[in-house]
Amino acid sequence: MTHATRTDGPRGGLTATPTYLVMLGAPGAGKGTQSLRLAERLELLPVSTGDLFRAALREGTPLATEVRKYVEKGVLVPDPVTLRVVEERLRQPDALRGVVLDGFPRTRVQAEALDGQLTRLGARVAAALYIEVDTPELVRRLSGRRVCTGPAQHVYHLDSRPPRVADVCDIDGSTLEQRPDDRAETIQARLARQLPPMYEVVDHYANAGVLHAVAGDRPVDDVTAELLRLADRATGRS
Ligand code: ADP
Ligand code: AMP
Repeated sequence: MTHATRTDGPRGGLTATPTYLVMLGAPGAGKGTQSLRLAERLELLPVSTGDLFRAALREGTPLATEVRKYVEKGVLVPDPVTLRVVEERLRQPDALRGVVLDGFPRTRVQAEALDGQLTRLGARVAAALYIEVDTPELVRRLSGRRVCTGPAQHVYHLDSRPPRVADVCDIDGSTLEQRPDDRAETIQARLARQLPPMYEVVDHYANAGVLHAVAGDRPVDDVTAELLRLADRATGRS
């Protein structure tokens, strides 16, 4: 049984409306970490635009040529490219039962485009979950983050979630590496560039009445518990 909200269908019967959740937060706030946990618990598909772009870079697909210079410097990929990638991904059959979006939307244009696509699917964003973390902690999280080079891109932290063996992924044995955009010289510029458009997206969902903010400077399990509670309430499961 997948997680979907039951509503009255056009002919009075019951149809399943897929659940769409959006994770918001600055780079390093814990969106990726939490979206995987929520997706597993709620039986939704996690979709991370950052992961999609990094996979393209690793595989050297045509998309890599379009996005490399932006992703490696921590600059937002232009909206038309990002929207094309997300629209395609959300049309895939595995996304039709509902999705947790991590790292998208990141601009007001993207948020409006997502609304449009979901309206065409007869759906809407059920909740935008905003993980708030202050800047010194973001810098600490980004500079200590290490990511597995396997396809699943498992995420570690040198202090808060170290691998059992240095530089080796516990789950698939791949080498861990620091993302180029997590290097000290890129972090501040990335935060400075990416926070203003993110605040516009936060406003967008506040105006839509679906924004829920949680304090992210707590242990991972505590943040997950609160997010699950909010997601359950927003989707009518509790
Ligand atoms: P984002 O997807 O928002 O950029 P991540 O989920 O990749 O953030 O988390 C950034 C880093 O912080 C990772 O190294 C992760 O292991 C670590 N992290 C995530 N949540 C917490 C937390 N609640 N406490 C401490 N470290 C965390
Ligand atoms: P993330 O893994 O979410 O930190 O994303 C890594 C990088 O991918 C960002 O710094 C951007 O260059 C790019 N990116 C990810 N998501 C988006 C988006 N929604 N819009 C534009 N660029 C994005």
